[in-house]
Amino acid sequence: MIVVANWKMFHTPSQAEMLSKSLVSTLSPKLSQVTNDSQACEVVICPPYVSLERVKTILSPADSSIRLGAQDLHWEEQSARTGKVSADMLADLGVAYVILGHSEQREYFHENNSSVNKKIKAALSNNIKAIICVGESIEQREMGKVNDIINKQILECFLGISKEEAIKCLIAYEPLWAIGTAKAATSSEVQEVHAYIRSVLSDLYDHETATKIQILYGGSVKEENAADLALIRDVDGFLVGGASLVAEKFKAIIMAVLSSPA
Ligand code: PEP
Repeated sequence: MIVVANWKMFHTPSQAEMLSKSLVSTLSPKLSQVTNDSQACEVVICPPYVSLERVKTILSPADSSIRLGAQDLHWEEQSARTGKVSADMLADLGVAYVILGHSEQREYFHENNSSVNKKIKAALSNNIKAIICVGESIEQREMGKVNDIINKQILECFLGISKEEAIKCLIAYEPLWAIGTAKAATSSEVQEVHAYIRSVLSDLYDHETATKIQILYGGSVKEENAADLALIRDVDGFLVGGASLVAEKFKAIIMAVLSSPA
């Protein structure tokens, strides 16, 4: 399993430092104590750009179970793009993962499948794994269009991505109506869409490649529902927003994942 903390535009660098110190001191020993019966879990912390370097200094270089992630990048190489950050800059800071195509980027900053596609290629060229967000709005769900939306997002985001590259990508299924609403999707809704994502990947690549691509669920994951969501067959991890901003809440989610059956 893999659990990704998306801190969005929250926490100053000093607050980010305190929170990551608290997470590392509690979680590092637990993450390295995995037995045959318990679940292995990797944690990725995605603070705002300005805190990446500070958080990086707190993550122990010897401990690969907590990794550094970014929340976006620009697809161009270093160039005149005021306000933007390139993939090689992130790689130089030790960023191992990047969240791409988040619904907030799509809603507020004109992100679309074509820009996500260019960003995935830039990330992979710099050895950064791409966490690609897909998901439907409540209106699209009510109109029975979930599969159409997900299919289009995957096909357009993965355009020109080889299967060797695809296995360095993760997909986060994040129904828009579940993000920040305290109303997570039900286990059957999650399994249905995750299985569909797997089938789209299988058609696009092959069965083996589809099983290697980790599919995360995101949308109001918290301590109370993490254990049940972790049991779902096609769930390989979580993308966590609000609950990742508070040390005790995020630790409780990780503990629930670690105690779920392997
Ligand atoms: C998110 O923003 O990716 C997210 C899943 O948020 P939340 O956990 O707060 O619903």
